[in-house]
Amino acid sequence: MRGFIILLLIASGCALHVPPTLQAPPHSFVVSTGGVNRSAIFLHRVEGGIVLIELGWWGAEEALAEGLKQLGARTDDVIAVFLTHSHRDHIGAWRSVRHAPFYLATAEEELLFGREAHGGWLPSLAEKIRGSDRPAPEEVQVHAFSSDTVFAFGRDTLRAFLVPGHTEGSTAYLFRGTLFAGDAIAKTWISGFRPALGRFSVDASQARRSLESLRERIAPFEVSLVCTSHLECSAATDEFWADVLGN
Ligand SMILES: [Zn+2]
Repeated sequence: MRGFIILLLIASGCALHVPPTLQAPPHSFVVSTGGVNRSAIFLHRVEGGIVLIELGWWGAEEALAEGLKQLGARTDDVIAVFLTHSHRDHIGAWRSVRHAPFYLATAEEELLFGREAHGGWLPSLAEKIRGSDRPAPEEVQVHAFSSDTVFAFGRDTLRAFLVPGHTEGSTAYLFRGTLFAGDAIAKTWISGFRPALGRFSVDASQARRSLESLRERIAPFEVSLVCTSHLECSAATDEFWADVLGN
């Protein structure tokens, strides 16, 4: 099984086309974890340590260790973890970094702990077949926010934007010109970039409205790149947004 996971990691790693701004040690690095759909962990060096966005899925702890090595850092150097949401394929490495504060939307908190069930027919079916490994409330320190919030790390600013619909507490993060959209934006082979897909989401029409609003809320800021959790990235052009929103 372990060999199989490593093979998967190698296979998914080979297919990676990560934008150079995100793969720039010692400042930033991206690792891809395995599973049905590759899930990224985005690592960023800031003043005082390493900030993570997303925690991946299968093999996440090994992948994170590799990413930290690329930045010349250790697990203890992680000073903050930002979750876009708490589906199983986004929280894989939580045990490795439970010393660090976890930031997420208030509406996602009970879902992270498994005290509320995820909606959306595929995630809820997956939980029924096999429950996911989730922290108990006493195992992590959660800092929850219930509106768009700005975090400062030395000279860096990380902006959190609530985009409910994929899950109740889905959040996109803007950091150094890249919008980390989580699963609020999806890419399919057939239709390209789209709002969160209905089969994975609690409320697909809310997900679309959240993106329409997000586009307005990020307008004052420089956004050059958008990446989903599953490492589909695009320049953040008007054409990209027209594609996503179908207008
Ligand atoms: Zn998801």
